Amino acid sequence: MRPARALIDLQALRHNYQLAREVTGAKALAVVKADAYGHGAVRVAQALEAEADGFAVACIEEALELRAAGISAPVLLLEGFFEADELPLIIEHDLWCVVHSLWQLDAIEQARLSKPLTVWLKLDSGMHRVGLHPKDYHEAYQRLLASGKVAKIVLMSHFARADELDCVRSDEQVAVFEAARKGLAAEVSLRNSPSVLGWPAMSSDWVRPGIMLYGATPFGEEQALAARLQPVMTLESKVICVRELPAGEPVGYGAKFVTSKPMRIGVVAMGYADGYPRHAPTGTPVLVAGQRSQLLGRVSMDMLCVDLTDVPQAGLGSTVELWGKNILASDVAVAAETIPYQIFCNLRRVPRLYCGA
Ligand SMILES: *Cc1c(COP(=O)(O)O)cnc(C)c1O
Repeated sequence: MRPARALIDLQALRHNYQLAREVTGAKALAVVKADAYGHGAVRVAQALEAEADGFAVACIEEALELRAAGISAPVLLLEGFFEADELPLIIEHDLWCVVHSLWQLDAIEQARLSKPLTVWLKLDSGMHRVGLHPKDYHEAYQRLLASGKVAKIVLMSHFARADELDCVRSDEQVAVFEAARKGLAAEVSLRNSPSVLGWPAMSSDWVRPGIMLYGATPFGEEQALAARLQPVMTLESKVICVRELPAGEPVGYGAKFVTSKPMRIGVVAMGYADGYPRHAPTGTPVLVAGQRSQLLGRVSMDMLCVDLTDVPQAGLGSTVELWGKNILASDVAVAAETIPYQIFCNLRRVPRLYCGA
């Protein structure tokens, strides 16, 4: 069997969820969109269900996967419905629904619903992606109430730059939100992972942690609370071939790396078809036989090469951690000029093994 695998530590997942609760004192929707950022939405939701206040996903397909697996906790659709004909399913499966646009509000008014909806009414407080314009916010709230089709409304918004710890933009967004919701007596949900970890003074009845659940920091710098996160996924494989090369020999496609001295090189069963970033350059950290080393040359589809020159204990069959508790996914992301979100979401082909259930 090919030795590439992703170990998912559900105990670490629960630790990170509790941290989001503990530092905010708020109710927390565990964000499990995109197959729980590559960790497996059903297994992640099952592991958290006993303690989680609910879950959040990107679309009804993802929500129905959780329901089909028997998850009965609240599930929020972060973009609401894409077409009005999803509304009967939303009711049938008891899903919570974001309303971010006036067309969705029209659709709710026009729909015939067998039960009232729970709506999270989203304000565009300055990110300018989705969300109602502040001038429309009060009226949208009143229209939802007047429709008679809504049992509960939560007021929400989303931050564009909460991962930038010295940026004033998040405070400006809060000010826009506070002004827009003035006089509306409803619960509030503002905070994603970077604002949970980095903006302690911000208040929010509901928080929406995503990346922090999986143990990766959303910040590009050291941060005290982020340092308490426990990595959940360990992506590992094994050395399947070892070669000794003299100086001046190229390694891998395109000869992107050429030995500068006699070197020992290990070939690892891991490639971009598994989601390892192809753009990770020579020097990207890896752990081989318990020791830090580096990637060499271009990542290919099913294999990549690592430096064994200074890892004498490593050889054929040695375990290689690509990211996990020793090599942080966020550090691999920096090397590959991406973010840990994408590193995790790209995982595929590799079997996931769960522990700490
Ligand atoms: C994805 C998402 C989140 C979670 O964001 P993280 O940065 O991963 O914590 C929260 N809220 C909304 C609206 C989202 O789309």
